[in-house]
This record gives sequence, C-alpha cells and structure tokens, in this order.
Amino acid sequence: MDRMEATKMKQPSPRIMNGAQNVTIINLQSWTQTINDELYLTIAADVAGSKGGVYRVLIYRSKTSGRDWSSCNCTGFFFHYICKHVWAVEMKQHNQRSVDYANNSKAKATSDTQT
Ligand SMILES: [Zn+2]
Repeated sequence: MDRMEATKMKQPSPRIMNGAQNVTIINLQSWTQTINDELYLTIAADVAGSKGGVYRVLIYRSKTSGRDWSSCNCTGFFFHYICKHVWAVEMKQHNQRSVDYANNSKAKATSDTQT
C-alpha cells in the first residue's frame, strides 16, 4: 500500500513528461550505497535549466524496501515535488522502476476510461 502511494505521488503530469524530453543532462552518475543498513541506488545528475543555469537532481532508490525519493533544486520541484529535470533523469537511467511507473499510469488510465 505504501508503495502504491509512493508511485502515485511520483506520477508526473503530461506537461512534465513532455518537458523532460527537452532537458539536457550534462552529466550523470549512479552508485550504490548503504544508508542506515539499507542498500540504495543513488543517482546524481546535473541538468541544464531552460532559462540558463544548472540544476542538480538526486535520486535515492532502495533495492529492498521500495522506499525511494528524489529531489531537484529548481522552483518547479519546490512547489510540485516532481519536475521535468527529475523525470528526464529517470528516463535517461531507463531502469525497470521507470518502466513500471509508465506501465502503471497507462493501466490506470485505461481502466479509468473503461469504467
Ligand atoms: Zn527540476
């Protein structure tokens, strides 16, 4: 249940998903680390802001509990807890979790329109 809620929270709007396609990722690195006895995949990326400047995206994903969170220091993330920069990095990383998010949203949208 917690995991479903986390997925729902991370669901970006179409505007963010479209915007993410135009985000330039300057550099990206990922590594695993143990935080409080839990193994996390950590991703750090610098992305170019659309009005200049560089934003830093950080993503933490637990390999075991599904606990996961991300952040970006742009204004959009401050207000919406998700932004096109974070989503661009998620897409670039193109891991199974990102694919899961996309599939879940499609399945949800389909079942919603059918009922
Ligand atoms: Zn951002």
